[in-house]
Amino acid sequence: MLYYARNTGRFEAIRDSAHLSNVSAYSDSMAQTAADSNPLLRFEGLPAFHAIRPEHIVPAITELIAHLERDLDLLERTLEPTWKGLILPLERLELPFEYAWGPVNHLLNVLNSPELREAHETVQPDVVSLSLRMRQSVPIFEGLATLKAGLEWKKLDDGQRRVVDLRLRSARHAGVALTGAAKERFSEIERELSKLTTDFSNHVLDATKAFELILTDPADTEGWPPSLKQLAAASYAGKHAEAGARPDTEAGPWRITLDFPSFGPFMQHSRRREQRKTVYLAYMTRASEGPLDNSGIIERLLSLRQEKARLLGFGSYAELSLDAKMAPSVDAVFTMIEELKSASLRHAKNDLEELRELARANGQTEPFAHWDAGYWSERLQEQRFQFTDEELRPYFPLERVLAGLFSLCERLFGIRVEEIEEQPTAWHPDVRFYHVKNEAGAIIASFYLDPYSRPENKRGGAWMDNGLDRRWIDGALRTPVVHLCCNGTPPVGETPSLMSFREVETLFHEFGHGLQGMLTTVDYVDVAGINGVEWDAVELASQFMENWCYHKPTLMGMTAHYQTGEPLPDALFDKLCAARTFRAGTVMLRQLLFGFTDMTLHHRYHPGEGKSAFEVYKTIAKDLAVLPPLEEDRFLCSFSHIFAGGYAAGYYSYKWAEVLSADAFAAFEEAGLSDEPAIRKLGRRYRDTVLALGGSRHPMDVYRSFRGREPSTKALLRHAGLV
Ligand code: ZN
Repeated sequence: MLYYARNTGRFEAIRDSAHLSNVSAYSDSMAQTAADSNPLLRFEGLPAFHAIRPEHIVPAITELIAHLERDLDLLERTLEPTWKGLILPLERLELPFEYAWGPVNHLLNVLNSPELREAHETVQPDVVSLSLRMRQSVPIFEGLATLKAGLEWKKLDDGQRRVVDLRLRSARHAGVALTGAAKERFSEIERELSKLTTDFSNHVLDATKAFELILTDPADTEGWPPSLKQLAAASYAGKHAEAGARPDTEAGPWRITLDFPSFGPFMQHSRRREQRKTVYLAYMTRASEGPLDNSGIIERLLSLRQEKARLLGFGSYAELSLDAKMAPSVDAVFTMIEELKSASLRHAKNDLEELRELARANGQTEPFAHWDAGYWSERLQEQRFQFTDEELRPYFPLERVLAGLFSLCERLFGIRVEEIEEQPTAWHPDVRFYHVKNEAGAIIASFYLDPYSRPENKRGGAWMDNGLDRRWIDGALRTPVVHLCCNGTPPVGETPSLMSFREVETLFHEFGHGLQGMLTTVDYVDVAGINGVEWDAVELASQFMENWCYHKPTLMGMTAHYQTGEPLPDALFDKLCAARTFRAGTVMLRQLLFGFTDMTLHHRYHPGEGKSAFEVYKTIAKDLAVLPPLEEDRFLCSFSHIFAGGYAAGYYSYKWAEVLSADAFAAFEEAGLSDEPAIRKLGRRYRDTVLALGGSRHPMDVYRSFRGREPSTKALLRHAGLV
């Protein structure tokens, strides 16, 4: 789920800045000359990734911004409040940025270098402020409002109306409709919020860095996996490099920190209970005292967000957040949480009892505490179904997995995926380029696949982003192009690239996003593909695809041991399925606790009156945690998702999207997964609704047109083994 946060955050950011641009000035010959020397100033075909150099960035973006500012001024003075007189010019404004700013951001992720970063940082503030200026343009806002109130509105189709509505909504949320003192106050609030969220995030980072536990006795490392020993020894040596320290994995010293790759495995494997307690308490009280204390920031943030929401005419910040989401109301979110909770609670209690029992049976006499949970849960997992990535990898060669994925898409959606051998404009020799064809054999989209890890210049994780949107340019349709980036192991000698099961799931996830980007049939770029899809609905298409990894025939069909050709043994498949539902009630409840707290703090909470945010959290936990938080727990002080990220009054989105994707997959289960004609038919319906319509209608309408009803939590609970 980490991918969710990263991805959505990313493409939102790119999309926002892509809202700027004005192409009109660029069809002249001057631009042509510039394009000859600067690949970022070429606005047709595929971006020339191979030719883009850091030194192209500042001149190209500076020039584009200057043009755009002039064109924006002109549009503001001369616009007509019609589709042709306002929306089409706005669409055209975007094009140069799609070709220039999009690739720059992409290269930052796949071919990073200090020079590239520096160039990006030089121009980024100007891009951001221009994007804001555009969003807050009063003449454009008034033009949109006039268009909506006028005679032409009736003639627009659903997709066109969504374009106008989304632009109006975005402008309203940016405070455009405010005047006088309210407007001034709004800007003040925005400035303070921006500073507070940055401070919050910096405090968490600094507090995380400030803690270390140094171990020198090899007996303390008993039971650690080799990777943790290595990491901890390297961490110590890195910290004391100036004193000439060299990492010694076996003799130490070892350094444990609160960074997750160190903290997580330590809590799972350290046999020293007291040390686990120390590290756990440090983790749970990060940024809660001294100069890094976030408690005051939390109260101030919540108070300012409520004030902002009220200025914009909403009853609470949660209502403002939901105005741009699929979830219809705050109550609908609480209802979902309640349903999932009542199904999970009993299972979570059993999970806890099981761990208590295991700890007792292994001689633990002290009462079971938070710092025991990770440790005993890991032991239980070992007993039940231990398997390692290394056992599974040989069965999942990349080529075989891709063939399985493409053939599944062919069956479901009637598309063919064809690799194009030569793609000279790609950013790296390992990158592949594919066309997607429809049943009639016409190219409807393309994608780049960047499959392997390159620690030296590519970021970790996996993600999809829009390369080029589907759009009409001078009467011709330009089909969409998306980027799919993964971090698999490259082939070595005779050994092909072998994937872990998690990497297979991730590939399916990102390809799901990609399908929504590629199979769109919408002609209006603002709402084509992923564009305009509400935050809490955007993971439907991706997680839907993950479900197929647990469908036995599909999964078996794409496994073949790279040496023997054998499919995955049944026993290993069963373990994969058992791992999917392992402690599902506990995992679910934890997400619900966070989601409920987030929603409550942004809806019903009044800072400075009565209870503190910490007390609210603890009261909620009485109901939503089987092991209540400790008195000294200050988890909220490091809850960056909602206080420094984009998840304020939106944390529930994780669960919301899981409900949707499980429920959508359940439609296929109901049709009978082995009934080929039924599956094909339903696959086409999914393609023509969820994948084709994208953001061109409200996501609830899109969902209803696929499922024939609103989403239900039943399938998610069943898949998680909670019914
Ligand atoms: Zn995703």
